[in-house]
Amino acid sequence: MVLFRLVDDTESAHDDCNCDSDLLSIRVGQILEIIPRNEEQIKNLVELEAKEHLQLNFWKSPTIPGETTHVRVPFVSIQAVKVFLESQGIVYFIMMGSVQVLLDKKNEEMLLNQRREWNGSFNFEAYRILEEVEMNNLVAEHPGLGSKVNIGYPFENQLMNVLKFSTGGDKLAIWRGAGIHAREWVTQLSSLWTASKIASDYGNDPSITLILDIMDVFLLPVTNPDGYVLSQTKTHMYRKTRSKLSGSLCVGVDPNWNWDTGFGGPGANNNSCSNSYHRPSANSEVEVKSLEDFTKSHGEVKAIITLHSYSQLFLFPWVYACAESHNFDELEIKNEVAQENAQSLTSLHGTMYKMGPVCLVIYQGSGGSIDWFNDSGIKYSFVFALRNTGLYGFLLLASQTLPTAKGTWLGLKTIMEHIQDHPY
Ligand SMILES: [Zn+2]
Repeated sequence: MVLFRLVDDTESAHDDCNCDSDLLSIRVGQILEIIPRNEEQIKNLVELEAKEHLQLNFWKSPTIPGETTHVRVPFVSIQAVKVFLESQGIVYFIMMGSVQVLLDKKNEEMLLNQRREWNGSFNFEAYRILEEVEMNNLVAEHPGLGSKVNIGYPFENQLMNVLKFSTGGDKLAIWRGAGIHAREWVTQLSSLWTASKIASDYGNDPSITLILDIMDVFLLPVTNPDGYVLSQTKTHMYRKTRSKLSGSLCVGVDPNWNWDTGFGGPGANNNSCSNSYHRPSANSEVEVKSLEDFTKSHGEVKAIITLHSYSQLFLFPWVYACAESHNFDELEIKNEVAQENAQSLTSLHGTMYKMGPVCLVIYQGSGGSIDWFNDSGIKYSFVFALRNTGLYGFLLLASQTLPTAKGTWLGLKTIMEHIQDHPY
């Protein structure tokens, strides 16, 4: 079980080095909510993000006018950032007055979880280290249903281990991946509960039994295991891969913008120190190439759902073009799934998810996984951005992950049932 350590939470774009004690002053800070009014102000914010000496950590990047941006600002930079925003007439609010307060709260929760764990049963409301998220016990307990498949070896040699639920034979498949961005811990943890739910429902819940009799379910809890390990041991807000490119100042690539569809177009980021750096070539990242290879060689993957956090969104293609998808019929189906899904998600805890094509709902990007899957013939390529809308940001308390997992499970079930009723 992870105990949250109050080390720095800045981006470790410059390798692991900013965990040193000389950076103690940036352990704490504030989260600002910024609301750009027009394209000019968005441009100003992008320029602000590039000022490395300020050591800002954008939790939610500037996208479209009117859409909020969230940024963690170390105390040493607060004055400079506020002066900059005010000089440009950009509206902002203090969303979180002290990150330290929230970190303390998280630590209390972690310690409580640790005590509960000592009392016996497995606690799904606690953040987990890599080995625990891989769920070896679950595979061992369900030998006729669950197995672990390795699909890749990222740069620092952690394994990309997929949990495969199958009743045997060659079947069509549903894929749900999590943790492509390391710091989005609610996604990895939700996968853990989902795996347990699938294993316990098969043979007990008729609808899940029927689904697994006709299709396989693949869960990849940690798509970016190198980044996940770093986010749990040194730099909690780490997002990218850990690959090193000779000549680059910074380490890692954003694996969500490294796919071979619309690669390098509008929205692409060429700055190797940026959180959304896409790298010079598509598929350069093992995490991306392994997944592309797997889906191509399997050939019968019918739906891919990718989990991110945060913002509470249910998204579908495209991200590289601000347009609806292929044709009217397909769009109708997507909307049907989207609406069923939204109802499922809302029904359990009343959590509202905004939905639509990525480019129209949040921003335009290039080389996105959601587009690549759709472009390669997987009609149902969806993204969930899980809880919350910003109050906790990436520092979501672990106690909120279980209701999140249960809500998104209903969404996943709706998609699986839809494919069962509308095979293609
Ligand atoms: Zn993400």
